[in-house]
Amino acid sequence: MSQQVCIIGGGVIGLASAYALVRQGFEVTLVEAQESLGSQTSFANGGQLSYRYVAPLADAGVPWQALGWMLKGDSPLKLRPRLDPAQWRWLAGFLGACRHSVNQRNAAHLLRLALLSQSTLQRWREEDGLQGFDWRSNGKLVTFREPGSFEHARHNLADSRQQQALSAAECTALEPTLGDTPFVGGIYTPDEEVADCHAFCLQLAARLQASGRCDILLGQRVRAIRQEGDRVRAIDLGERQLPVKHLVLAAGHRSPELRLPGLKLPLYPLKGYSLSVPIGPQHRAPEISITDYNRKIVYARIGQQLRVAAMVDIVGFDPSPDPGRLSLMRRQAEQTFADAGDYQAAIEWAGMRPATPSGVPLIGATAYRNLWLNLGHGALGFTLACGSGQLLGELIGQCSTSIDMQGLMPRVA
Ligand SMILES: Cc1cc2nc3c(=O)[nH]c(=O)nc-3n(C[C@H](O)[C@H](O)[C@H](O)COP(=O)(O)OP(=O)(O)OC[C@H]3O[C@@H](n4cnc5c(N)ncnc54)[C@H](O)[C@@H]3O)c2cc1C
Repeated sequence: MSQQVCIIGGGVIGLASAYALVRQGFEVTLVEAQESLGSQTSFANGGQLSYRYVAPLADAGVPWQALGWMLKGDSPLKLRPRLDPAQWRWLAGFLGACRHSVNQRNAAHLLRLALLSQSTLQRWREEDGLQGFDWRSNGKLVTFREPGSFEHARHNLADSRQQQALSAAECTALEPTLGDTPFVGGIYTPDEEVADCHAFCLQLAARLQASGRCDILLGQRVRAIRQEGDRVRAIDLGERQLPVKHLVLAAGHRSPELRLPGLKLPLYPLKGYSLSVPIGPQHRAPEISITDYNRKIVYARIGQQLRVAAMVDIVGFDPSPDPGRLSLMRRQAEQTFADAGDYQAAIEWAGMRPATPSGVPLIGATAYRNLWLNLGHGALGFTLACGSGQLLGELIGQCSTSIDMQGLMPRVA
């Protein structure tokens, strides 16, 4: 008889987990609080499948750089200190992860997981014919406005066989829409990809429903997890309790609300914003994904829209958009790619990245023998979703894992 798994959370992580589990022969029940899937942080993110640009935000020099940013009005980072121990704990953990050696170690864990994600998505596309989410292999160019940061990036390439340092002129030759933007150079990674994360979620959901091996329960907020000794036995849905054999927590930045004795989840939401700018026949939008490194803005052409995404706001759990931050982002995007699309018609969005202090997600077992985690993917959840789901299925199925799990397993219970 096949094993049964219940997953809390219908974002890209929960859905990719469900898809990987069904593919590996499990029966799945996926429980989602909202009436639709992929409607929270997975809705309008940057769309970049950034497999080789995975270095965590926490790095040597970042705390000083962040102090400088916070004194500027146009900073990509905003910190509003709150009377919230979770925020202080997260910031303390972040500072602890800012040593260069720790950053390098965590970047290596993320790279391993990202490359597994790339090959997993490729398999799902090729073997299952998964499509309909504006996937393209379009390459990514990270552009630098400051010589110091360009030099640092040149010497710290994640994968020197796959990444090339280019002069400003070479960048413009590759992506002519960059025009005369004052870049000093860039790092080009030809194998990076782009897609629409929300459409990807819907395609996974359609396949899951068609499989006959997955029940999707929408509009069902899990109020609590019931445990007995070292096992979880049910989830509380308000009007009823649903018994569980294996339970996966993939509820994004809201996961810590589901408390269990001894389980401490080091997650905090990092709010960010996006604009979806329609591209008409008269517009000139970049074909290659662009990351404007010094302004921390990413641009990705997804179908007939330019997705612009940016900002890290450490301001608590309020998900509402900040008009000032959005208009700063729009101004900066228009300065860089003035003719890329109809900015007046752009759709604004805010999302909460579920971030661990180190930037490395938590995938795997807990002290509760049948409770598993797949959360904390921060700024890279779309990139890392397929590999994370694949690993989770292998761990629950007690198979050997596709990659070394060192650094990726939770130490939270
Ligand atoms: C501005 C911005 C740009 C980004 N750009 C990129 C990018 O270019 N590339 C990339 O790889 N990543 C990017 N990300 C990160 C990525 O979007 C996230 O890491 C990813 O969406 C997280 O997915 P998730 O499934 O963990 O969370 P979510 O998508 O938030 O899903 C969690 C789900 O759990 C549900 N839930 C919560 N609590 C409960 C409960 N008690 N009961 C039932 N259901 C519950 C929620 O309703 C939600 O649907 C970006 C994020 C932001 C904000």
